[in-house]
Amino acid sequence: MSKRALASNVLEKLGVLRALEYFRSKPGILIITHHRIGNAEASRFDRAVFSASADALDEQIRYFKRHLNIVGGEELAALVSGRQKLTRMHVAITFDDGYLEDYRTSFDILKSNGCSGSFFLVPEYVGTATVPWWDEIAYLVRNTSKPRVVFEYPAPLTVEIAGDREDAIRTVLNLYKRNDNHDGEALLRELREQVECELPPVERRFVSWEEAREMKAAGMTIGSHTQTHRILGQLTAEEQRWEMQQSKRVIEENIGDSVDSIAYPVGIRGAFDEMTERIAAELGYSTGFSFYGGVNTLECLRPTNLLRIATNPDPLLFRAETMFLSRAGWLPY
Ligand SMILES: [Zn+2]
Repeated sequence: MSKRALASNVLEKLGVLRALEYFRSKPGILIITHHRIGNAEASRFDRAVFSASADALDEQIRYFKRHLNIVGGEELAALVSGRQKLTRMHVAITFDDGYLEDYRTSFDILKSNGCSGSFFLVPEYVGTATVPWWDEIAYLVRNTSKPRVVFEYPAPLTVEIAGDREDAIRTVLNLYKRNDNHDGEALLRELREQVECELPPVERRFVSWEEAREMKAAGMTIGSHTQTHRILGQLTAEEQRWEMQQSKRVIEENIGDSVDSIAYPVGIRGAFDEMTERIAAELGYSTGFSFYGGVNTLECLRPTNLLRIATNPDPLLFRAETMFLSRAGWLPY
């Protein structure tokens, strides 16, 4: 039995989860990050970006409705800015990248539950069949017949592919995410030259502007995830400004409304910095979302660096995590 499964069994047996549900929540905002919704195992691309199946997402939202208060749009902005007082724990549901499942699956699930979510789009991907760097790396590493790939850029690294492909994929993705990678295309070229396989033909993979407008009209929030999804921490100040300014302008033109939220690509520590936050604020973003752990309690709430948590593949353990964070403000492990 895995550690996670063991932990969720123990929590259930001890009645810890039930007990937590009856505790009063702390004032704060718990923000959930999703990427793709669906069956990860069936994907030919990066399986790690699947955060939940459609059923698991629906079930998560129903659980949140019972034990937390789901917020989005104006109300979320008002709580973050302090215009509306935080008196209990709220939960916000966010989706990065703008994959087609946002429209086809998540939008329907949110609507049927009567709640709203935030969707962060990359204008360069909108309405296209783009295969972004993480999906390309995953596909090429999974499908090559080569036993290893040798990288020179951004640092010398030999990746053995003979064993578990998922481990090799993570290793190459981590190389791409390094802060000294200033030219992602150079890294991808090295990979493409060695793998002797090509990406398959694909249909449209990202939501269109028309779909985004429909989502917006139904109460969803449309935010920016930068113009081209480059990792901001790898860029100069001017490049960062362009990514955030251009995406804001293009999304605003296409949805016909102002855009004041941004999710920083990758979002982990180092994928953006204080300069990023300063530029975002100067450009008129009132909320900036990172992607590292924790809950935004009154003491730590920072509008341009809102903490977000990933979902846990074990539904029971994910419930326990959300209850610990909303009732105690911390996780027991
Ligand atoms: Zn992203």
